[in-house]
Amino acid sequence: MSKNIHVAIVGGGLGGLAAAAALVHRGISVAVYEQAKTLGEVGAGIFIYPNSLRQLERIGLGPALARVGAKVGTDSAYYRMDGSVVGKILTTDSSGWNGMYGMHRADMLNTLAAAVPASAIHTGHRCIGFSQDDHGARVEFDNGQAATADVVIAADGIKSVLQKYAVAPSAPEYSGFRAYRGLIAADKLPHWKREAHQVWMGDGKHFMVFPVRRGELLNYVGFVPTHSETVESWSAIGDRDELAASFAGADPRVTELLDKVESCFWWGLHDRKPLEKWTHGRLTLLGDAAHPMLPHLGQGANQAIEDGTALAVLLQKCGGDVQAALQSYEALRRPRTSFVQAESRKNGMRYDSKYQDMAQRDREIANIAELRKSLYDYDIEKEAAEFRA
Ligand SMILES: Cc1cc2nc3c(=O)[nH]c(=O)nc-3n(C[C@H](O)[C@H](O)[C@H](O)COP(=O)(O)OP(=O)(O)OC[C@H]3O[C@@H](n4cnc5c(N)ncnc54)[C@H](O)[C@@H]3O)c2cc1C
Repeated sequence: MSKNIHVAIVGGGLGGLAAAAALVHRGISVAVYEQAKTLGEVGAGIFIYPNSLRQLERIGLGPALARVGAKVGTDSAYYRMDGSVVGKILTTDSSGWNGMYGMHRADMLNTLAAAVPASAIHTGHRCIGFSQDDHGARVEFDNGQAATADVVIAADGIKSVLQKYAVAPSAPEYSGFRAYRGLIAADKLPHWKREAHQVWMGDGKHFMVFPVRRGELLNYVGFVPTHSETVESWSAIGDRDELAASFAGADPRVTELLDKVESCFWWGLHDRKPLEKWTHGRLTLLGDAAHPMLPHLGQGANQAIEDGTALAVLLQKCGGDVQAALQSYEALRRPRTSFVQAESRKNGMRYDSKYQDMAQRDREIANIAELRKSLYDYDIEKEAAEFRA
C-alpha cells in the first residue's frame, strides 16, 4: 500500500502544490521544496476548468474555491476586433455542469497550500542536484541541505533544473508573442458583463477579459506580436501605453478598459515540443517542467492538476513498485498533454486571425465547443484507475 512511500516535490507553484494536495488526500507522505523565501503568485488570473475542478472538488477543495472563484456564465463570447460576434464560448461540460472559475493566481495557490500540512512545505530550498540508486532518491539544495525520498517529482516550471536528469534537455521555443496582463477593479467598469469570458480576435493579436475573485476584479490579457524575444517572468513590468496603442481602434469596450489600466505585467510566451520522455527511475516531471504550452486554451495549470491526480492514483496502490507507477503515469499523461500542447498552438492561430480564409476561422471557432467539451469531460481519476487495473 501507499503509506510507506515518501514523495519529494521540487517546486511549490500551482502544479507542485496541486500534486502535493492530491497525494496527501490519498495518504501519501510528501515534502514540497520551493526556491522562493515564501510561497507566492503574481497579480494575474487563471482559468480553472471542469477537467481539473472535478478533481479538486473530490479532494475537498470545492467550498474553498467557491469562496474565492468567479463564476463564468453564458454571456461568454468570441468577437472580431470591431466587436461583432463570432460565437459563444462554451462554459459547461457535456452534462451541463458549469465547473469553471476565473481565479486570482494567489487565491488558487493559497487554496492548494492550505490542503498540505504546513510542516511539509519547505521554502528557501533551491534544488541544485539530484541522484538516485536502488534504494531511493536524493535532492540537494543551495542552502546546503539535502532530502531523500522514494520518488522525486520535478514541478519546477518551464526552466526546470531537474529535467536534464530525466531526458536530454530541449530549449523552450519562443512563440513571437508577448502577453500583457493585469487586473482591474470591476467597479471601474460599471457596465462590464461581470460574469463573462470575452475574447476579441484579429489582425495578428487578440485580447481577452474574464472575472476573478468573486467578480471583484477583471483579469485582462493582450497578446501582441514582438520582434524581439520577451523574457518569461511574471514580475516583468509591461508598458501600459504600448499595450493601449496595440489595441487602438478596437471595439470601444476594449479601449475603454485599457484607458483605465494604470500598470501591467508582461510575459514572453514559450512552449516546447513534446519531450521524448519524462521519467528516469524514481524521478518524473510534472506541469510546465514536462509540457509547457501556449495559454490559448487556458489549460497549462489544468493539465498540471490532472498530472498530480494521475500520480496520486497510480502511486496509491503501487505495492511499493514506484518506478513502475511512474512509467504508467508517463504512458497515460504524455499523449494527452501532447495533444493539448498542439491544440493550444492551433487555437492561437485562430485567435490571432492567421488565416487566409476568415470564414474558415469563424467556422472553426464556432465548432471549438466540441474540442472544449472533450477537454472538460475528461476524468483523469477514472482514466488513471482504469490504467492501473
Ligand atoms: C499569459 C498566460 C496565461 C495563462 N492562463 C492559464 C489559464 O487560464 N489556465 C491554466 O490552466 N493555465 C494558464 N497558464 C499556464 C499556467 O500558468 C502554467 O501552466 C502553470 O503555472 C504551471 O505550473 P507549474 O507549477 O508547473 O510551474 P510554475 O508555475 O512555473 O511553478 C514552478 C515553481 O517551481 C519553483 N522552482 C523553480 N526552480 C526551482 C528549483 N530549482 N528549486 C526549487 N523550486 C524551484 C518556482 O519558484 C515556482 O514556484 C497561463 C500562462 C500564461 C503565460
